[in-house]
Amino acid sequence: MRVFVSADMEGVTGVAAPADVVKGEADYAAGRDLLVGDVNAAVEGAIASGATDVLVNDSHSSMANLPRGALHEDARLIRGRTKPRSMMQGIDPDHGVALFVGYHAMAGTPGAVLNHTFIGHELLRLRVDGAEAGELGWNARLAGALGVPVGLVTGDDATAAEANDEVGSAVRTAVVKDGIDRFTADCHSPAVARDRIRSEAQRAVELAEAGGLSPLSPTEPTTIEADWSATNQAARAASMPGVDRAGPRTTAVEADTYPAAFEATVGMLRAGAAGRDEFYG
Ligand SMILES: [Zn+2]
Repeated sequence: MRVFVSADMEGVTGVAAPADVVKGEADYAAGRDLLVGDVNAAVEGAIASGATDVLVNDSHSSMANLPRGALHEDARLIRGRTKPRSMMQGIDPDHGVALFVGYHAMAGTPGAVLNHTFIGHELLRLRVDGAEAGELGWNARLAGALGVPVGLVTGDDATAAEANDEVGSAVRTAVVKDGIDRFTADCHSPAVARDRIRSEAQRAVELAEAGGLSPLSPTEPTTIEADWSATNQAARAASMPGVDRAGPRTTAVEADTYPAAFEATVGMLRAGAAGRDEFYG
């Protein structure tokens, strides 16, 4: 089975604050080492259950975080940021399951570590056909539109709850920390967290092999709206072709298929954020 891994950073073992995940900050190097530990644990679990091909898409901020020399030798890596499918670049209908590693809860989730939706300051929320979605739900719908189920989500306790809400109770979750507040967490040790990720990744691939996971079926045509914190961000987002100014601080895209709406949203968010990448993804 081919396995797709989307690797974010805010939900990684031991990570709690912006200094852990922002390049150039004091604790970023330690955060990056913790990231590769969690990602490799997921790869090891997938391979232990017979995965033949594991593709890891670096999905955090610059999307060039994973130290290449330290990545599991059996995984391939998409590194770099210029990609139309952003956190889901590389997924295709031949993948049997998608694993979300280091994920975090959507903006505004109480007690959730580093909670945000794409851009820490400018973006208040995303809505897919009227329902609020975080990165997890937005990305899971793309996998679903391609026929790929999400089998594993790793992150804090709030992220696991969001995974169950968005993807259903069959999804495997690995809770690596409990949120106290947005920049404060009660973390398991890396060894405990990685054991948990490894075993849950293995179970996720086994479940997918057995047909025990169902891909999401997003409604089509699809409308995706973004609520910005200020009017100038909405104005910038609406300067992209195909993006409507749906309200003073709201922009929207509409497309016949979910993947087309997803790709249009990537452009809308990049334009609205105007190159800022703090917490992006
Ligand atoms: Zn991120």
